[in-house]
Formats: sequence, structure tokens, C-alpha cells
Amino acid sequence: MAKKLARKAKATKPRTATLRQAQGRPEQGRGTKRGTRKYVYFFGSGKAEGDRTMKDLLGGKGSGLAEMTNAALPVPPGFTISTEACNLYYSEGRKTPAEVDRQMLEALRKLEKAAGAELGNVKNPLLVSVRSGAKFSMPGMMDTILNLGLNDETVEGLKARTSNGRFACDSYRRFIQMFGNVVLEIPKEAFEHEFEHAKQARGAKLDTDLDEQGLRDVVRRYKEVVRSRVKRDFPQDPLEQLRGARDAVFRSWNNARAIEYRRIYEIPDSIGTAVNVQAMVFGNTGDRSATGVGFTRNPATGANEFYGEFLINAQGEDVVSGVRTPQPISELEKVLPAAYKQLRQITKRLEKHYRDVQDFEFTIQDERLYMLQTRNGKRTGYAAVMIATDLVDEKLISPKDAVLQVDPESVSQLLAPVFEPKAWKALPVATKGLPASPGAASGQAVFTADDAVEWTRQGKKVVLVRKETVPDDIHGMFVSQGVLTATGGMTSHAAVVGRQMGKPSVVGAGALEVAEAARTAIVGSKTIKEGDYISFDGLTGEVKVGQVPTKPSEILQVIAGEMKPAQSDVYQRFEKLLTWADKFRRLGIRANADQPDQAETAYAFGARGIGLCRTEHMFFGEGRIPIVQRMILADNESDRRKALNELLPLQRADFYGVFKGMHGTPVTIRTIDPPLHEFLPKREELMVELAKMEVQGRKDEEYANKQKLLRRVEQLHEFNPMLGHRGVRLGVTYPEITEMQTRAIIEAACQLAKEGTKCVPEIMIPLVGHVKELRDQKAVVDRVAAQVMKEQGVKIQYLVGTMIEVPRGALTADEIAAEAQFFSFGTNDLTQLTFGFSRDDIGKFLGAYQDKKILDKDPFATIDTVGVGALVAMGVQKGRGARPTLKVGICGEHGGDPSSIHFFEKVGLDYVSCSPYRVPVARLAAAQAALAVKVGD
Ligand code: PEP
Ligand code: MG
Repeated sequence: MAKKLARKAKATKPRTATLRQAQGRPEQGRGTKRGTRKYVYFFGSGKAEGDRTMKDLLGGKGSGLAEMTNAALPVPPGFTISTEACNLYYSEGRKTPAEVDRQMLEALRKLEKAAGAELGNVKNPLLVSVRSGAKFSMPGMMDTILNLGLNDETVEGLKARTSNGRFACDSYRRFIQMFGNVVLEIPKEAFEHEFEHAKQARGAKLDTDLDEQGLRDVVRRYKEVVRSRVKRDFPQDPLEQLRGARDAVFRSWNNARAIEYRRIYEIPDSIGTAVNVQAMVFGNTGDRSATGVGFTRNPATGANEFYGEFLINAQGEDVVSGVRTPQPISELEKVLPAAYKQLRQITKRLEKHYRDVQDFEFTIQDERLYMLQTRNGKRTGYAAVMIATDLVDEKLISPKDAVLQVDPESVSQLLAPVFEPKAWKALPVATKGLPASPGAASGQAVFTADDAVEWTRQGKKVVLVRKETVPDDIHGMFVSQGVLTATGGMTSHAAVVGRQMGKPSVVGAGALEVAEAARTAIVGSKTIKEGDYISFDGLTGEVKVGQVPTKPSEILQVIAGEMKPAQSDVYQRFEKLLTWADKFRRLGIRANADQPDQAETAYAFGARGIGLCRTEHMFFGEGRIPIVQRMILADNESDRRKALNELLPLQRADFYGVFKGMHGTPVTIRTIDPPLHEFLPKREELMVELAKMEVQGRKDEEYANKQKLLRRVEQLHEFNPMLGHRGVRLGVTYPEITEMQTRAIIEAACQLAKEGTKCVPEIMIPLVGHVKELRDQKAVVDRVAAQVMKEQGVKIQYLVGTMIEVPRGALTADEIAAEAQFFSFGTNDLTQLTFGFSRDDIGKFLGAYQDKKILDKDPFATIDTVGVGALVAMGVQKGRGARPTLKVGICGEHGGDPSSIHFFEKVGLDYVSCSPYRVPVARLAAAQAALAVKVGD
């Protein structure tokens, strides 16, 4: 079947595409007669007018039904009204054009012939289902109507044909209820209320306790509901029913939940839904009938096992609505063995044909199997990796197909600790924030970084809850299970550091009122006190109050050397997939790392180089803050140099470790970047401490030092520190800092050279907007490097380059490239400065911007290709124009975002750099981007 169908698909697709291209028209329905567009596509009796290539026009369901029909699978006949007809319905003011109606009636005649029954025929009534089906699956978002064609007369015909009065009446009451709700817009409750009354009146406990007479009573009551609500009788004319149902499905494209779903999953509003009208088959005619749904493999674990559920004597909606508990599909083999065997055979063939896991729906009517749907199944990240590697082993797909099949985010799900699913589900969601760094975190709430360290020392597991985090919280973040903040966006400090550490983080949880001093947080009606358990999922942003057990990912255990690769099946598959990806990618992958252990992790994940080492993060290491503070507090150069001399050996050791951890691959080290006051205590805190000392009558040396500190803090105060004394401006005003950092870098490289390990440091100057800033700093670097190499008697190769993160830097990239040997785009600051959005405050208004569709996505998470991206493209072009050998990379957070990586591939960067735990995602995304760009995407 697969081969035959593949040939068939090949034969039709190029022809239509060429025709469309030749005529310069977008994809539209094909003509039936001269001048008329085709809106309705028939399928039945082993032949369909559509096929799998026509998802745009027929939707996923319609194209799947056509494809299955062509494959001679048992599919009830029917027809699909195209998405184009839906768009016409809207463009004509919510009216279906006469031509669409005419074609529908023509298809209906064909359907009646194929089904051997007629719509409205009292003796032999045809019943149909009317279902939505857009190009992308939108489960449960739009409307469905079953059993259409029943009325007061045909219900008796159905009874006579099936010799089953109860079944006929039950079908009719279901139809009135669905039609009443979907088409006539009567609330469901109105019907449910009557159903309960009917049950009570007859002493029935379960729905199934109602006999034929009981159901006739329900039908009578339902018709009454319709009459009183819409002031007319329930429509008896089946054609009127069909037209009403068709238009209601078109309307459901624009119901609130469908709109919201499209927003979340970025499905365009303009594509519309198709409508599928299909002869009904019944899973509720008795104990030899059933209905069910399934997957060809387990969508949660990826295991190659037949997976699904069914109900005996039921209709489709009973399975999904949860009214009755379905049985596992393996039980079907016992009760209906022949149908089960056929279902296994068909679904296996479908999987082979589509070369992917299938999610299918079926009905068994009196032991006869019918297929109602098939589509590629949605799956967890974990399952995606399992399935793709299995399909390659089974020779169903090639490694390239596997690389294209797995969503890059899936591999990051594989790294994160996970909650025990049952325990997690049992708790209600307290609030939701931005999912900054994936993983499950559960622990006792603490409100300061020091407490986090102290409690951890006592053997407790903690979650650090902060209004916001600042760089000197890093020690607390490090020991916590996860970090939760009330403010901040995707590139706020907590988010960046969280991702870098692989620490689960949720930021910007605005409903959380954190009172750090009182050590409490309020969310809704709940108050979380210090020590109370709190849990959150960094993949979804959901926060819950309570404790939930977690388990670590095996891949991390292997990376940390706690488990051998051979012991972990999931690690081996992960590695296999990424090794395939490496064959297809062009972009280099580096990591943002500033500690030797982070460098090693990044290397183990496949990073081949460091794209950004933020040296200031090293200043927060054990015992270093006081030295850094002495450097800042110095009011003359000589005192500042003294403090810098103390920092020198520490930084040298850091760089040595990082170089070593990267095994000779390039390492970009950035000179100091943040405003100096970030290293000093807060002004308010100092004032409180001084006031306390005054009350105690203390005027000692400590008091005097604190006063001095306060004065310096006040001197350093800036109204807008992000635009203030930071980046290259620090190096320009205090060249001795650049000198010390250069010395530490070159000395570490010389030491390694003497040990026989080559490394090529890339020294990077941040926040350059004017070529003269870079020239100034480059002179310092070159001077000190020459001096150190002379002292050490070693010659090493090094590069000097800059970050392009100020718009002026991009605009004058040609001038800057004359001095820079490499560029690294700092897209965090570039986004901040191009939009003028503070990266730490965007959380306050981003939601409103997205609700109003001013912005689709958070520009700090996914590159704004039109604005910020244009600056990147210009920077690359101008820079390479001036210096063709210029190395160009990106080290903003966008370096780990798949759709941004797609853009960076297009503009031809040499590499992307991201946090160590995003490296696997970036490897896969870069391969997909290269393959897409190759085919002209
Ligand atoms: C950037 O601005 O993109 C960048 C990488 O630097 P930082 O985040 O440290 O400001
Ligand atoms: Mg920056």
C-alpha cells in the first residue's frame, strides 16, 4: 500500500503545484466545470477526490480520510467541504455561497449511493456526522454533530432496520442535544437538566438504565426545550439540519476557545476549517459494537506498544467526555478478536505509510471495523526522541527524517527533572509565571539567598522565592531546587542564570506577592510562609502549593559521570539523534559559561567553544565580594590596583579551568560589563544598619567604614544603570580593570601552552557603540598581552573583538570591524536598546502587549527579525564587507531559541552560543535550520 500510495501522491502533487505556480494563484480549489471552483471533495467506494497532500484545502481529517479511502481501508463514505468554502462563508458575511451548497447536494447524492441509504428516507434513512477539521489539529476546540438526518419519522425507520428501538431513540435524543447546543445555541445544561428529570421520573440511576420508553420521554422533553428556547419546533427537514450544522461548524472556527488555542499555538486565523460530512457508523448498537481511539505507539513514553482505549456499546463522545471509564485497548482482543486483529493490521500499515506514529479513531459496528481518522500523533519530548530513533532502527525513516521529526524543545525536556505525574496532577494550580528554565522543582520556600544556603546545609531541599533576583543571590540560586520570582522576563537575571545552571526557574509570576522581610508570599487566598512546601514546573510555568516528589534525568547523571552511557538507553538515543543532527548543521555551537564545571558540562553536551564568559559572574565566587568591593571603593588608582592584584590569581585560575574544560576549542572572554553598584550593598539596607548602630551608640571603626560605604554607594547611584556606567565605559574610565583581566587571561593561556595544551582566547569588549571605544580598549589589551608573553617567554595566539549590542554598533559595523577580529551579537541588550524595553521590567506589560496582539512573542526570547534582526543582518553585512575574515556569532539568550536559530542560519552567522543546558536544543535546531534553508525556506 505504502508504495502504491507514494506513487499516487507523487503523481498528483507536482502537477497541481506547477499549474498553480504557472497561473500565479495561491492554492485554491480545483475547477469542476469551466469557471467554477471545486469546494466539495467526495470520498467513498475505494476512491477519493483528495489525498494526503491536500491538508491546506481539506484539513488534516479530510485529507486523512481521503488517503485512507484511496488505500481501500474501511472508511465510511462522505465528503469534505473545503477550508476555502469556510473563508468564503466569512467573506460573504457569514453566508454559505449558493455554489458551495450546490456542490454539497451533488456530493450528498453520491454519498447516498455509496452508503445505500437516503437522507430523510423513512424506510432506509442515511445518518451523517458533521465534523470540523482544520489543517492543524485543534482537539476539542470546534464543533461536531452526530446522527444528523434523524427526525420523528426516520427514527422509526432506524428502529425498524436495526430492530433496536432503544438505540434509535438514544441516537435521536443525542442528536437533538448536539444540534440544539451547537446550531441553536441552547446551553447544554438545559438538556442535561431534562435528562436528569427523566431519569428521576423512572427511578433510573445510570443513563443506560433508561429503556426505549424512557428515551422517548427524553426526546419529548428535549423538543420542548427547543420550542421554549428558540420559539420554533426542532427542524424536521434533514437538509435544513445539514445546512445548519455545516454553517455552525464554520462558525465554530471563531469561537473563543478556538481563537485562544490558535493564539497559543500560533496557528493563523486566516486558514479556516474544513467540514467533513460522513455516513454514520454506530458503536452503540449493542455488545458487538464499540468505539475507541488509539496510538500506534505510546505517546507518553514512546514505547513500541499498541496504545489506546475503547468502550463497548458507545458513541465517540462517550470516550472523550469521560462520562464512562474506557477500557485499555488490549482488552479488545478478548471481546472482539477479529476486529482487533484487523485494527492492528490497518494501523501498522498506516504507520508505515505515513512513516510516523498514528493517532487514530475507529468504530466497530456489529463486529465490522471502520476507520474514522488517522493523523500523526502528538507526543511528549521524551517519546519524540524514543520514537524517532526507533523508526530509524526499523528503517522506516532516515536519520535526516529523524532530525527533522523531533521538535528541538523535546531534547530539553529530556534533561529536566520530572515530577511524579500522579502527585503533580493531584494539586491545584496556584499561579502561573513565565517558564524560564525547564524542570520540576519542589521544596520548602525560603526568601533570601543566605537562607537557601543555610537551610540546604541543614539537609533541607528549598525553593528560592524572590520578588526578583540580583547577581549576589547566585549562591542561593545554586543550592536551591529552583528559583521562583514575582517579576522579571525571559532574560531577567533569574531566567538567564537559571538556564545557565540548568536550574528550574519560573519568573514573572505576577500573582505572587512576595514580602521578603516578612518571609512570606501571598498568592490568591493562600499565604506561603517560610518552610512551607512549594512546587513548580519550569516547562509550563505552573506553580502549586505543596510537596511533589521529583526524579532526576538520566542524561544529566551520565553527563555528571554518575552513570555510564551504556547503562542509560535514553542517553544513548539522545546522543545518537544529536550526532545525526551534527552532520546536517552548518552553524557552530558554543556555550555561555563562566565556571570550569559549566564549561565541562557544555563540552559534554557537544558545545565546541565558549561564546560568552561573563567575567563578572566570577566575582561572586567564595570570598571575592569583599575584594571586589575594595576595588570599587578605592578612591585612587593605586588602591584600586592593590585590590585588582588580589583578584588577579583568582581570575587566572578561573580562566585556566575554563580553557581546560573546553579542550582547546575557542573561548570568548568578555571584560567586565555590569554597573559597579551591583557589587555593593543596597543604599536602604546600609541606612538601616547605620541607624541601628547609632541607637546602640556605636561610633567605632565599623560604623565609619559603613558610612564611607554609604557615601560611595550614593556616589555610584545612577538613575538608569543599564544605560549608565557599564560595559566598555568601565574599561575606558578604569583601564586597570581591563589590564588585570587581560593579564589573567594571557597568563592562564601561557600556562596551558607550557603544559602542551593550545588555546586561543578571544577577548571581547562589551557595549561598544563607537569604534574609538574599541580602539581605546584594544590598545590596553595588546599592550598587556605583549608584556605578559614577553615575561612568560611564550607566544600565544589571541583575538580581540567586540559585542554588537548597542544599535550604533550595528549601524557602524564597518568602522568597528576595522578594529575587531570578531563580532558577537548581544541580542539581549540589542533588543532592550532597539525597542527601548527594559529587559528586567518587560514582564509588567508583555502580557497586555500579547493580549492586544501588539507583540506575538516575547522579543527577549525569540528574535524580532524585522527590527532587531535587521540590525543583526546589517551588522553582519557591513562587518564582513570591511573584514571578510570576520568571525560572527551571537551570545544573547536567542542563541538557544530554535526559531531565532533559524534566522541566524539565514543571515549566515558562524555560530550560536547559548547556556550549556540549551546546547542539545541548539544542535538539533541548527540542523533543522540548515536543512530548511537548503530547500529554500
Ligand atoms: C547580551 O546583551 O545579549 C549579552 C549576551 O550580554 P548580557 O546578557 O550579559 O548583558
Ligand atoms: Mg549585554
